Amino acid sequence: MVPIQMVDLKRQYNKIKPQVDAAMLEVLESAAFINGGPVQQFSQELGDYLGTRHVIPCANGTDALQIAMMALGLQPGDEVITPSFTFIATAEVIALLQLKPVFVDIDPKTYCIDPQAIEKAITPKTKAIVPVHLYGHCSDMDSIMDIANKYGLYVIEDNAQAIGSNYTLKNGVTKKAGTFGHIGCTSFFPSKNLGCYGDGGALFTDNDELAAKIRMVANHGQSQRYYHDVVGVNSRLDTLQAVVLRIKLQLLDQYIAARREVAAAYDAAFAGNPHVITPYQAPNQLHVFHQYTLQLEGKDRNGLQAFLADKKVPAMIYYPVPGHRQKMFDGMTETNQHLPVTDTLTTKVISLPIHTEMDPDQLKHIIESVQSFLN
Ligand SMILES: *Cc1c(COP(=O)(O)O)cnc(C)c1O
Repeated sequence: MVPIQMVDLKRQYNKIKPQVDAAMLEVLESAAFINGGPVQQFSQELGDYLGTRHVIPCANGTDALQIAMMALGLQPGDEVITPSFTFIATAEVIALLQLKPVFVDIDPKTYCIDPQAIEKAITPKTKAIVPVHLYGHCSDMDSIMDIANKYGLYVIEDNAQAIGSNYTLKNGVTKKAGTFGHIGCTSFFPSKNLGCYGDGGALFTDNDELAAKIRMVANHGQSQRYYHDVVGVNSRLDTLQAVVLRIKLQLLDQYIAARREVAAAYDAAFAGNPHVITPYQAPNQLHVFHQYTLQLEGKDRNGLQAFLADKKVPAMIYYPVPGHRQKMFDGMTETNQHLPVTDTLTTKVISLPIHTEMDPDQLKHIIESVQSFLN
């Protein structure tokens, strides 16, 4: 059996190697390493795929979030509501810009921000909500947009884990994850569902004015060459990454289908087991399974991880320490408040390998290993 990995990027690359190698060589020969044609082409193609007017590429997903907050003109002291149960980048950039991260709890079914908790956390200083579509499942965007409209708040979607997901609003309109709020942000980190071979990221918006502001902030605050109107950053997607992304974007729906097949096999295997809760999938959306995450009930989560490691099955804890318990935020926000759902799930979740290249014998080995621990 081929060794099992959380994400098998090498086998995925081997399947597209001829196209990738040729496209990369072409970039080397053109020497257009920065802002080459493929960067613009990829942005256009991703915009078409997502059904959004503007895709602005940048250097990584963390930058995308930072640029979004800068482009919206958020000011030191403004409060930004975000889930604590997420990758650190989401809240880190809030703090970096001297905004105040306001951590709220999540919905135990979806692992995404709890809309009722958002509404309770709103103060006169609240300016924005940053929902995170964790593990590939969208947040409750109907409720979040209703709250944002009611209180006049910006919504920045952290879509680093849910690119390609579809979500049907209660008015019947179906759109892609990341296109509901004022700005959507994503990451093309190699292990993401649409990943490049280095770092990359992008912002999406339908608003022309905001798109112009985002482009300016991402490019040293420049309005025309060597005229800098605002303090910005330098954040670019390079051409070598863009050619990889153009190839992989064509395959994204196929990649999502492959991930969903693995998830369906896990779901079927663990259905009815009293010791696990399998991932919830809201009926109005397509879960794209960036992660397949179980909640353990009455069994030792760390024990399972160690047991699986012995059987050469990697498993990860996303995330072992939630934002509101990270030292980096000491003095900036209420770090030791009790967020019951987040604090409980932090001790119960475990993510199994899921990717686009899983073999049936690997899947069988993972399932049998988990079952032999649980039964
Ligand atoms: C990966 C990720 C990011 C950051 O992306 P980078 O490209 O690594 O900077 C932000 N938020 C979430 C939820 C992520 O998973």
